[in-house]
Amino acid sequence: MVDLKSQYEKIKGEIDTAIHEVIDSTAFINGPAVQQFQKDLELYLGVKHVIPCGNGTDALQVSMMALGLKPGDEVITTSFTFIATAEVIALLGLTPIVVDVDPDTFNIDPAAIERAITPKTKAIVPVHLFGQCSDMDAIMALAKKHNLYVIEDACQAIGADYIFKDGSKKKAGTIAHMGCTSFFQSKNLGCYGDGGAIFTNDDELAKQLRVVVNHGMTVRYYHDYVGVNSRLDSIQAAILKVKLPHLDAYCAARSYAAAYYSKAFANNPKIKTPVHFKNSTHVFHQYTLVLDGVDRAGLIEYLGSKGIPAMIYYPVPLHMQKAYLDPRYKEGDFPATEHLCKHVVSLPMHTELDEEQLALITSSVLEYVNR
Ligand SMILES: *Cc1c(COP(=O)(O)O)cnc(C)c1O
Repeated sequence: MVDLKSQYEKIKGEIDTAIHEVIDSTAFINGPAVQQFQKDLELYLGVKHVIPCGNGTDALQVSMMALGLKPGDEVITTSFTFIATAEVIALLGLTPIVVDVDPDTFNIDPAAIERAITPKTKAIVPVHLFGQCSDMDAIMALAKKHNLYVIEDACQAIGADYIFKDGSKKKAGTIAHMGCTSFFQSKNLGCYGDGGAIFTNDDELAKQLRVVVNHGMTVRYYHDYVGVNSRLDSIQAAILKVKLPHLDAYCAARSYAAAYYSKAFANNPKIKTPVHFKNSTHVFHQYTLVLDGVDRAGLIEYLGSKGIPAMIYYPVPLHMQKAYLDPRYKEGDFPATEHLCKHVVSLPMHTELDEEQLALITSSVLEYVNR
């Protein structure tokens, strides 16, 4: 699904030098590379504060901890996402309230959010799934009206632009009170291990986030809060510092591959190609089709026989996951999500796809679908 080796080979010199600099300095934790990358990312995103942390899941957890949410508080999120989003809500004793998605963009449906708001609701966590932003105009308006916090899960959308109704732009993850990202290796900006970050323009929240990621420590060995230990290590920061200037080119390479796919599948009645949400650019963390009248398992097997990987993101809606079963939900409650879980398939998507590979992948998909 990804080709990290070819991507590395193109920047090998810079990466190897950066890694060796950290090793030579022995500043493995909180070394200068961490602050440098943090500054570079703040500049790139146009956000006041980037708080690096251990991974994207921690970023989500820490952002909820920084808000001081209490057990029983309700957090509204999407039923069609990677589990991390709901996992941290549950871990903190908060109540995950799931709502359906827009069947075209796969992102959380603002009208469904509004219907789910109760006096216990404290926050909304939209996920910018597969690389394009949720409807942040609508979500921020709801948050304002009901006095709620919004935490963007931008783990799949770093580099995407949100275009507001008035034409102004902001980077994914910098629109709400806080935004979270992951530097997991296969993400659009991936490191060579684990990494993550939280973004905010709020000085007070930034201060609290830095306390929470560092054992709840305000003054050394004085712990005013229950915190966690969540750090981006210096080697990962050094790698990310090298890769960040390439991020826009990486996103462009993904968009090129996506356009190739979409052109090849255009007008095929059995294949629905990704629908662009008008208020966001798309950085194609995943390229995901919705099939109609195609044996999905058969297609994946057929592609596999030709050495082409294909994956299902995600096969099970949040409310049907065993660990998250809740009497308030049953099968059929979220028709858009449930339909997607049964009919989506994601094709290889990364920065190194060439014409030859794209031609093989598209012709193989069409061979199976049209037979
Ligand atoms: C990857 C991902 C996460 C978690 O990131 P990790 O760094 O793997 O912990 C959370 N949410 C979404 C939507 C993701 O894609």
